[in-house]
Amino acid sequence: MQRVAVLGATGSIGTSALDVIARHTGTMRASVLAAGSKVDALLALCHAHCPEHAVVADPAGYAALRDGLRAAGLPTQAHAGGEALDALVAGDACDTVVAAIVGAAGLPSTLAAARAGKRLLLANKESLVLAGELLMRDARAHGATIVPIDSEHNAIFQCLADGNPPARITLTASGGPFRGRTRAALSAVTPAQAVAHPKWSMGPKISVDSATLMNKGLEVIEAHHLFAVPADAIRVLVHPQSLVHSLVDFEDGSTLAQLGLPDMRTALAVGLGWPRRIASGVGALDLLAQGGRLDFEAPDLDAFPCLALAFAAMAAGGTAPAVLNAANEEAVSAFLQGRIAFLDIPDTVAATLDTLPMQPADTLEALLAADARARTAARTRITTLPAPTFRP
Ligand code: NDP
Ligand code: MG
Repeated sequence: MQRVAVLGATGSIGTSALDVIARHTGTMRASVLAAGSKVDALLALCHAHCPEHAVVADPAGYAALRDGLRAAGLPTQAHAGGEALDALVAGDACDTVVAAIVGAAGLPSTLAAARAGKRLLLANKESLVLAGELLMRDARAHGATIVPIDSEHNAIFQCLADGNPPARITLTASGGPFRGRTRAALSAVTPAQAVAHPKWSMGPKISVDSATLMNKGLEVIEAHHLFAVPADAIRVLVHPQSLVHSLVDFEDGSTLAQLGLPDMRTALAVGLGWPRRIASGVGALDLLAQGGRLDFEAPDLDAFPCLALAFAAMAAGGTAPAVLNAANEEAVSAFLQGRIAFLDIPDTVAATLDTLPMQPADTLEALLAADARARTAARTRITTLPAPTFRP
């Protein structure tokens, strides 16, 4: 019986993971469920999946979680805080960890899973952007198996299954809700428009990242670490149908791609079953029913400068990707709260990268310090920006 810890259980990826796990009750079960602060949603999941442990990151939620579990007569043990979560992830309560907390907040538990040699189903791309070298080194040193869950990286993982090295990889991008718009046409877009992704149903932060193309920028850095490919061997192509999830070129002239409907349960089933294929609940792809077309175009780096910023941060190395990621998290959060405009997101990231020149960093402490400095710099800048005219 595979025992799975689902971190970020109340989120988009977390609930998709639980859906797949529930289809295989004879071979796997959710043994640990963790959320940030939404105790009611976590309690509902405990009812449905009856895990051994439930963790709420926010200590203020502990009493409500404990009392709710007791009142429901569930045997699930309540825990709170990051240290409790890291200990459960590293201990024998689970064999597999679905790392689906959003943002840099997911780094400690992701590292704990890697250092404990677990099977790590890695959705939390921010931890790779912030500390990719360290995370990959620790995973190797402790025998952890990383299966990327991000759909593009999961596609590449599948294409690389025979062990041959890639000559080049192509990450596909849907283009987000604002594909085809000019920079000027983006000045007044609202959070509601930005999170309305045309193809994928996702949490608010990654939806905004998809709208700015920062998501693709983070994914370029993610791919660089996961597959040990240099920047000049990574290309991005906009593919509005979101059916080809990524492509890999090999030195013999072959290009392999993975296709499927845009539903994260496929990637999660790959991770949970690997190397076996297991049912995910996602139907087979019918290309004709999907319109019979596969289109590709180059990304517009003028309207969507975040992609170029991410390539530049990756080339700079050291603390630059950590600064990029932290400034982006702060700017996206301010945008979602209606405090800054959409175009202030790339501007804030660029300004923060300019303010904090790259420093070499090969320790977790140095990277976390850079993350903290970048958040302060980004927040300071955000307070100087005029409030946008829309209401969130
Ligand atoms: P959601 O916003 O839907 O869910 C986020 C989850 O993280 C929630 O369970 C939330 O708990 C939890 N959380 C938030 N802050 C903390 C914290 N400080 N400590 C512990 N838990 C916390 O996000 P998604 O599921 O969309 O994304 C999760 C990750 O997966 C992101 O890194 C994203 O980039 C990546 N990803 C997502 C994809 C998708 O299709 N959604 C695709 C590819 C990658 P609570 O509900 O209590 O707030
Ligand atoms: Mg992706």
